[in-house]
Amino acid sequence: MKIIKRYIVVSALSVGLFAACKSETKTVEVEKNTSTVSKTKFHNEEVEKKIDVFLSKMTLEEKVGQMTQITLDVISKGAHFDSNKIQEIDDSLLYNAIVKYKVGSILNTGQSTLPAEQWQKIIARIQEETKKTPLQIPVLYGVDAIHGVNYTVGGTLFPQELATAATFQPEYARLCGEVTAYELRASSIPWNFSPVLDLGRQPLWSRFFETFGEDPYLVTQMGNAIVKGYQGEVVNSEVDKNHVAACLKHFFGYSNSKTGHDRTPIQMSERELREYYLVPFQEAIANGALSVMVNSAEINGTPMHANYHLLTEVLKDELAFEGFAVTDWEDIVFLHNTHRIAKDEKEATKLAINAGIDMSMVPMKLDFADYLVELVNEKEVSMERIDDAVRRILRVKFRTGIFETPITPLANYPKFGSEEFTNHAYEAAKESVTLLKNAKNVLPLSKNAKVLFTGVGANSINALNGAWTHTWQGQEERFNTVGKKTIFEAAKSIVGEKASYTQGTSYDAAIDIDKAVAAARKSDVIVVCLGELPATEKVGDIVDLNLPQAQKDLVKALAKTGKPIVAVLLQSRPRVISDIEPLFAAVLEGYWPGDEGGRAIAETIFGDNNPSGKLPFTYPRNSNDLVTYDHKFAETKDKNFGFNAFNPQWQFGDGLSYTTFDYSNLQVNDTVFNSEVKVTVTVTNTGTRDGKEAVLLFSEDHVASITPSVKRLRKFEKINLKAGESKEVSFVVTAKDLAFLDAKFNWITEEGKFSLMVKNLKKDIVYSKK
Ligand code: BGC
Repeated sequence: MKIIKRYIVVSALSVGLFAACKSETKTVEVEKNTSTVSKTKFHNEEVEKKIDVFLSKMTLEEKVGQMTQITLDVISKGAHFDSNKIQEIDDSLLYNAIVKYKVGSILNTGQSTLPAEQWQKIIARIQEETKKTPLQIPVLYGVDAIHGVNYTVGGTLFPQELATAATFQPEYARLCGEVTAYELRASSIPWNFSPVLDLGRQPLWSRFFETFGEDPYLVTQMGNAIVKGYQGEVVNSEVDKNHVAACLKHFFGYSNSKTGHDRTPIQMSERELREYYLVPFQEAIANGALSVMVNSAEINGTPMHANYHLLTEVLKDELAFEGFAVTDWEDIVFLHNTHRIAKDEKEATKLAINAGIDMSMVPMKLDFADYLVELVNEKEVSMERIDDAVRRILRVKFRTGIFETPITPLANYPKFGSEEFTNHAYEAAKESVTLLKNAKNVLPLSKNAKVLFTGVGANSINALNGAWTHTWQGQEERFNTVGKKTIFEAAKSIVGEKASYTQGTSYDAAIDIDKAVAAARKSDVIVVCLGELPATEKVGDIVDLNLPQAQKDLVKALAKTGKPIVAVLLQSRPRVISDIEPLFAAVLEGYWPGDEGGRAIAETIFGDNNPSGKLPFTYPRNSNDLVTYDHKFAETKDKNFGFNAFNPQWQFGDGLSYTTFDYSNLQVNDTVFNSEVKVTVTVTNTGTRDGKEAVLLFSEDHVASITPSVKRLRKFEKINLKAGESKEVSFVVTAKDLAFLDAKFNWITEEGKFSLMVKNLKKDIVYSKK
């Protein structure tokens, strides 16, 4: 029944039955909402035949086992969630999971970071156990290496996604993916729960830093690049031994809850969900991403884990997704005990599997497998559904090559933790630093100045890395990589004893503010590194977007010295600072720039790096005024009936340099176009330093049948300009680039006037089908 329904939906879309939407006044061009790569591009018949053989031999219990994922603690000795324990496999627990329950996948670290050699041992032991099962199917091991291999000792740690987005250089996302994949394989791990392709449009959300920012186009470009880095050039459907399967998270809409608290309800029309939130997933799937993890929250009253329409009709059929959908942590159980749409865990299992879940991250107990076997025997879940799920899982196991090579020996990965890899992370961190304010060119500081470094982030590696670093929450210092430099330490290596340090506050309490003020009086300049406690998911929930009061008190006390203050913001999301911002001479947004962030920021402060990052989100001025840059015109109307209501602290795309750039001569090759228009603009470095500039092209749709945004990012390119140099940057904008999703979910571009904007320049064009 369900299978038939699916084909009807696909064919309805492909023959354009939903295409009949026309506004009364405009001609409508219809674009089908189908994926850009055909279903067969990564399809490999040989692999499918091998899967057929496996399916024909597998018992129901073996199939259900493949759909079951447990966490490492379940097969380890000692207490669960104990970062002090020595991670050791317990033979009888392993036997129970692999031989008795035939578990197909294991995830996670036992709460801390392990040497690559130990990962090798653990995974070899697990794979060896699978040899005791009749079909000897290898286990697919997955971890959250979301900004580098954060759970392997000595791995390379890149900036978090939000910082990477600020580079406006997708190549850094690709490099992060490439290095992470290589270092994961050096740990014998072939599957990464990354990237997050949720959009960062709700700044209260604790996982804002895990996103590539608020704009769907930017997120899509970065997402495609990182997936390319993780999976490499997929040849003949296979991901090679230097690459891993990506897992797109969290399918989809997860990031924009009403409260901003993690895993709380989302209310959004399907049109908006598709136009903004689906696009990055759709593109990454079209580019062969092998798995997705499902959004833990509910959308419009239906938890995503039970949403047949979005998981099966949209993800699998419409997007032609060939990989598999794994739940997030314990999410089937949550359908019962949190969302309350199932009377018990068994009913929850039925709802989730029938909706289209292929693998359950159970992850602590194995009842899921028992319930699912019962449900199939009771005909509540069809064997077809089970076979479909198992086929998808085996497909990923074949495509990652783990049948043949379940272990990828460390010796084959000589570049693990190498200087070459560190340099990629360092360059990415340098390009992410975003200069938001620089009154009277206070930055860069003279290397002769006496500088006080203060604030919770000034001398902390954890404040640079944030969550998902060595442990889930990234708060424990003892796991940090030896030799990495904090901002203060890096400053000392540049200016020696002229840099001094007093902490001032913790994340939320005063420590020695008076001492910091006394030290400030003896200094020429103050660098205050304000920060946010490394945290993610529920642990990172906040009830106030304002920076904690203690840190504001520190700034106010320091300001009384009259010394210029440079603020460095190390944060997971834009914490409101409007009351203290006037006290700063300069502001550097550092995001969570990773292990090399200390060097990157110190070098920026002293002028060895010219900043070129740009904000990938809108920085709010007030905690109840959370509006994205691509808001609607109605959101600009103010209480005096003017159009000045949009008044953020800083705008999406803001970011200064130590040089200045002039934009001129914005040209289009035609002012009336019917397929594409070529846009050129000249950018000149008018200062005395070389610099990099991300050139952003926005469009405005003057009238549309769905309310248009004031502007949307359509293209960007980052260029290098020597002092005094000019370059012409050109973009091709197609009619499709200017499309929006109509009420029936068709991408359309309506005839009429558009403006193209680069910086302060604007050109009007008219789209006409004639
Ligand atoms: C998070 C996921 C993560 C998973 C496995 C969950 O709690 O939401 O993003 O991949 O845990 O660690």
